[in-house]
Amino acid sequence: RLYNEVQDLKGNIRVYCRIRPFLPGQNKKQTSIEYIGENGELVVVNPSKQGKDNHRLFKFNKVFGPAATQEEVFLDTQPLIRSVLDGFNVCIFAYGQTGSGKTYTMTGPDVSSKEDWGVNYRALNDLFHISQKRRSSFLYEVGVQMVEIYNEQVRDLISNDSSQKRYPSHHIFLFVLSVPDASMHPVKSTIDVLELMKIGLMNRAVGATALNERSSRSHSVLTVHVRGTDLETGAALRGCLHLVDLAGSERVERSEATGDRLKEAQHINKSLSALGDVIFALAQKSPHVPYRNSKLTQVLQSSLGGQAKTLMFVQLNPDVDSYFETTSTLKFAERVS
Ligand code: ADP
Ligand code: MG
Repeated sequence: RLYNEVQDLKGNIRVYCRIRPFLPGQNKKQTSIEYIGENGELVVVNPSKQGKDNHRLFKFNKVFGPAATQEEVFLDTQPLIRSVLDGFNVCIFAYGQTGSGKTYTMTGPDVSSKEDWGVNYRALNDLFHISQKRRSSFLYEVGVQMVEIYNEQVRDLISNDSSQKRYPSHHIFLFVLSVPDASMHPVKSTIDVLELMKIGLMNRAVGATALNERSSRSHSVLTVHVRGTDLETGAALRGCLHLVDLAGSERVERSEATGDRLKEAQHINKSLSALGDVIFALAQKSPHVPYRNSKLTQVLQSSLGGQAKTLMFVQLNPDVDSYFETTSTLKFAERVS
């Protein structure tokens, strides 16, 4: 194995916390984040309590403060991504309330500026870069799928576009762990990926007609399949990477939600707790891992558990008004780490 650093990681589940900065134009800048330590410590203060028991310490593998750049965040993610080329399955996801920076971390605010690129573009860029540096007798093939999970239904985000190259369905079996019923698209460069993702993101927005801001109420999953073949010996390896931008974790007031909105909220609740249960079971080394309880955990199953490596970004909004959601996000993280 080429990337030994991956084996130095403690266990197979890592949790990074990222706090987004206050946004320009936001004038009231009271924060619930009291302290960010170099070794993954985070202290949060409860605004409605006085005295010394209004502080709580949380511990992560790493905490990225508001000033952390996309590049810094990626540097700590890279070893994991590279292990896909050695045949590991990897799942990276961002969890947090709407507006906490999930999409910023995973995709970035602006695709046209390389500096802004989030984890998914950087990951693919890096995979191409590394795979091209390997021996010429070693051939890598990369296939990409992009789906949205909304109300427990999986929707292909790139199939509708007939202009896109795609693997014929029998070819999909070369990548055993593919998401069923979603088209698989061969990619040879970062430009191919940028193009596919542009289509995927557009299709995601199209689905948003009646329900505004659909993206905060569905999970988007970008799956990268890698197949490496040693042309001299015929030996082959496979790895797969899931990059997940989860639906917003905020609680919807029962009194506010009716009809479709309530149904959405219930589906989100169900799938996020199912994800929490799976990771909790894995962290506990429980013999039974409840993958079947949601579409999300079924789709991610190949990259959760076993030899697979999981990284969760816990996204926080620094604003004191978000204190309630911040603590509920931290409780989720605490349970799985
Ligand atoms: P979410 O996907 O969790 O709903 P977004 O990623 O859309 O949240 O972030 C909400 C807003 O905050 C966006 O305008 C985004 O550009 C901005 N933002 C998030 N994280 C950062 C960051 N680390 N640095 C600068 N701006 C950020
Ligand atoms: Mg988002």
